[in-house]
Amino acid sequence: MITSQEYRARLKKLKPNVYMDGDIISREDPRLAGGINIMSQTYDLAYKPEFEEVLTATSHLNGRKINRFTHIHQSVDDLLKKQKMTRLCSQEVGGCIQRCMGTDALNALSVVTHEVDQQGDTEYYQRFLKYLQYIQDNDLAANCAQTDVKGDRMKRPHEQSDPDLYLRIVEKLPDGIVVTGAKAHNTCSAYIDEIIALPTRRLTAEEGPWAVAFALPADWEGVTLINAAYSPRPRRKLHAPYAELGVSHSITVFDKVFVPWERVFLCGEWEAAGRLGLLFALYHRHSYTGCKAALSEIVAGAAALVAEYNGIDRSQHVRHKIAELIAVVELIFAAGIAAAVNARRASSGTYIPDVTFCNVGRYVAGTNIYKEYETLAEIAGGLPATLPPEMDFYNPKTGPYLEKYIMRKDGISAEDQHRCFRLLQDMMSSAWGGHKLIDALHGGGSPVMERIGILNAYDLESVKRLAKRLAGIKT
Ligand SMILES: Cc1cc2nc3c(=O)[nH]c(=O)nc-3n(C[C@H](O)[C@H](O)[C@H](O)COP(=O)(O)OP(=O)(O)OC[C@H]3O[C@@H](n4cnc5c(N)ncnc54)[C@H](O)[C@@H]3O)c2cc1C
Repeated sequence: MITSQEYRARLKKLKPNVYMDGDIISREDPRLAGGINIMSQTYDLAYKPEFEEVLTATSHLNGRKINRFTHIHQSVDDLLKKQKMTRLCSQEVGGCIQRCMGTDALNALSVVTHEVDQQGDTEYYQRFLKYLQYIQDNDLAANCAQTDVKGDRMKRPHEQSDPDLYLRIVEKLPDGIVVTGAKAHNTCSAYIDEIIALPTRRLTAEEGPWAVAFALPADWEGVTLINAAYSPRPRRKLHAPYAELGVSHSITVFDKVFVPWERVFLCGEWEAAGRLGLLFALYHRHSYTGCKAALSEIVAGAAALVAEYNGIDRSQHVRHKIAELIAVVELIFAAGIAAAVNARRASSGTYIPDVTFCNVGRYVAGTNIYKEYETLAEIAGGLPATLPPEMDFYNPKTGPYLEKYIMRKDGISAEDQHRCFRLLQDMMSSAWGGHKLIDALHGGGSPVMERIGILNAYDLESVKRLAKRLAGIKT
């Protein structure tokens, strides 16, 4: 395991290939600082005794102690700990912990490379294990570049007018493959070590060139990261943990990129593309049952806090709304527990969480997020939208006015009132906050994808039979 200092030092050595707002930027650009702060926590927390049990694991490759973000789930307990780790880390940083993407991609690859090898004469699994060893030995952070830019949504990859709208193999060479295309919405790509690219959907026989999975260093020749970054507004005086976080996402362009064979994990096996894509999504939806539970409990906590500061915390309608928020938090988390407990073992030995419970948990999370924010806004009143800028609280003329007129419930200091509403402003009335809502809705798959997943996995005929029996209809 490495420390966050070592992680940060490694980032500095990456060749510049991140573009933002018209410029090529270094990994030390302040707009990436919030995301790097979060990623650093995944290293630091692993050394804290109170987090050690969930943040570290024993490598199934060599029995060594590793950071759980690089672990392949070997049991139900591993899945439960991964979910708990995601929730605890997300509580700690105040939002998405980001590093789970790579964990979920590694786990999906550990299953599918093994399955593909069983069908033919490929050697993906052994390659994958060597790669995993490299990840674990160096405690590398990875992302997952799965979502293709996809062009016309109603057309399949081979039907697009530009075939590069889904990442594809354009050449096979003796020592590797060449790929071209772009992946969208790639979280944390600007501050990880490794990009793991996976297919995004099921493919058909004529779509072999699009059936490709591989991993590359984030600054590899021909890889360009066109980045969008979000953070809460920077603070000058009223420092707070929430103001230190951030995230960035890139369109990751692969322009005739060479991938050596030892880093290729799927190459033309179109039948396995859908399985790999869906499995990553499944692991990621399971991760969401941890991080989204944390995000929702931050909303519930902020709602309870502002209710208290507004003096309305004993009102029945407020208490009921907060109970509803808590119900969402714990239902999401419970679905993740159920998914872990009902996991099954793949041929590689990796544990796969239950499909229905993962999808249900992610679905409850995604479809409730706007309602949760509505509740928070309702309880908070309008001030999160109209709160004067921070420095007006420190101006000798306006500061005393603001300290006097921000007061609500007796016994709460002006600074704490200010802190509470500044947090709510960042959460609800900022570019950061707006972005979080879309993330919570679509990240890990839009609600429609979970609906499809739920229907595909559910035995609808058996519940129809149940209804028929109860209705007295003969089958
Ligand atoms: C903040 C954030 C972070 C993310 N991080 C990552 C990441 O790190 N890695 C990664 O790979 N992905 C990531 N994603 C991508 C995420 O998984 C996708 O946003 C999600 O799968 C939806 O894809 P899309 O954005 O292309 O939307 P679209 O697929 O364009 O969906 C838009 C709408 O069109 C509908 N639609 C799409 N296709 C069809 C069709 N054929 N027929 C009918 N209706 C259709 C959908 O139902 C949806 O309602 C992230 C997304 C967000 C918002």
